[in-house]
Amino acid sequence: MQHLIIRVIGILACVIAVKAFSQSSERDDPELQYVEPFQVFDNLYYVGADWVASWLLVTDQGLIVFDALYDDLTEMMIRNIRTLGFDPNDIRYLIGSHAHYDHIGGAARFQQEFSAVVMMTEEDWLLTEGAAQFQEYPRPIRHLSASDGSTLTLGRTRLQFMKTPGHTPGVLSTRFTVYDNGYPHTAFMFGGVGLNFSGVEQAESYVESVKRLQAVQGVEVNIPNHASVADVFARRDRLAAREEGEPHPFVDPEGWAEFLDLWLRRGESYLEQQKELAK
Ligand SMILES: [Zn+2]
Repeated sequence: MQHLIIRVIGILACVIAVKAFSQSSERDDPELQYVEPFQVFDNLYYVGADWVASWLLVTDQGLIVFDALYDDLTEMMIRNIRTLGFDPNDIRYLIGSHAHYDHIGGAARFQQEFSAVVMMTEEDWLLTEGAAQFQEYPRPIRHLSASDGSTLTLGRTRLQFMKTPGHTPGVLSTRFTVYDNGYPHTAFMFGGVGLNFSGVEQAESYVESVKRLQAVQGVEVNIPNHASVADVFARRDRLAAREEGEPHPFVDPEGWAEFLDLWLRRGESYLEQQKELAK
């Protein structure tokens, strides 16, 4: 009987391992992950993959990229930037939402090839000095640290940073302005939405972070670092079919509020789970 149980556990472990492997290889495959880059606002383009996002913000003094992706997906993203008619050598800043491989795995390449300045929080720079979580990646050289409430100005564009820990100790969230035919809208990127971390303290800071985001006034556009959490591709399709005079499908203040409500509820129940586990 004991043997049988061990065998069943062995088979189950194999099935889980194979599933995890096939999921990660699908995620890493640039052909499966290819998304044709597209313009969302006058100054903002989607240049990311299917499962993990990257955004290109165009200013009068050069380019800003949100998240570097990793390995072949970074290569794909750089090609996307060129396809759109931009020169990656014009990238002045790479904003790293947090120090997991899928967001900063390609950051070192942006430093070396394009002399881009990489910005992250101090807490997540520290993460780059320790053992990698999930997957290894070339470590970027420590550049600038963004602190809570700090800003970055490039030409006439200004980014306002918030530190929203939880997903990692130093998740970096950014508020900036996008333009729809010249009309300004307030956009926001919550830099670490997922609940794939553990610990009561981390879960408490996640809940606290979402509550702080709920207090930010005037957000109209949700710019996520994983497309699926804010229906980026469905909105893209609606944008392509938009008639003159119709509202911009990414301008959705109610959607932003619902998004935060949802992740607050999820965060709170996750916190309860973490408390149970800690007992
Ligand atoms: Zn992450």
